[in-house]
Amino acid sequence: MRIIIFGPQGSGKGTYASRLSPLLGIPHIATGDLLRAARDDKEYGQKIRQYQDSGALVPDDIVLKILKKRLDQPDAKRGFILDGYPRNAEQAKELDKITTLDAVINLVVPEWVLLQRLSTRVQCKNCGEIFNLRTLPPKKPGICDKCGGPLFQRDDDKPEAIKKRLEIYYQMSAPLIKHYRDKGLVIDVECNSPDIPPEIIVNKIMDLLRTFKKVGGQGKQSDEDGHS
Ligand code: ADP
Repeated sequence: MRIIIFGPQGSGKGTYASRLSPLLGIPHIATGDLLRAARDDKEYGQKIRQYQDSGALVPDDIVLKILKKRLDQPDAKRGFILDGYPRNAEQAKELDKITTLDAVINLVVPEWVLLQRLSTRVQCKNCGEIFNLRTLPPKKPGICDKCGGPLFQRDDDKPEAIKKRLEIYYQMSAPLIKHYRDKGLVIDVECNSPDIPPEIIVNKIMDLLRTFKKVGGQGKQSDEDGHS
């Protein structure tokens, strides 16, 4: 399956995608992580650091080049869960040229939940796993449960950058959902509380994906709360 996981910063894209990946047998590809891994790149590193640290979008040509390279890896041939791409109309257009999607998981989360999650989020420097000091703490403080790597708070999770990232999302990224809704690809998943364990949402997404596949990925989907 070729899936996009879509939603604002702090909606849980990375947390859910990293758990969906082994269940679906496809890699979780996060452009934010790909770009962070390229921060020391001779050609693009300086530009990536400059944009990422301020919370702005990295230029489309750089992101596309790095994404294409990742999608060309053998493990992505069977499918992928794409997290963090596309974020503007140009990126959506480019993605349409290079692949055909099966579903778009749209995470619908109120802003107060996003702000609370982002301010207490930490991530593993080594493997990218995400934790939350309030709702999903690591077993040992400062250490990743998965690989033992060090946990850190991202520079762009500071209040000013958070504000800027959310503004960009609502202005440039959120409108893209219409493009995918028109194609009958969108599965809406509501999450109204910061305290719902990730596994509950992941199970809900798996159920919705099964139903979605059965009905041929067409038409409007609604989550179990009856929202559409
Ligand atoms: P978040 O979505 O929570 O901001 P990410 O890890 O997805 O976190 O992205 C971090 C940063 O990486 C973004 O603020 C942006 O600078 C850059 N980035 C990630 N994906 C893209 C993209 N598709 N286009 C442009 N910049 C991107």
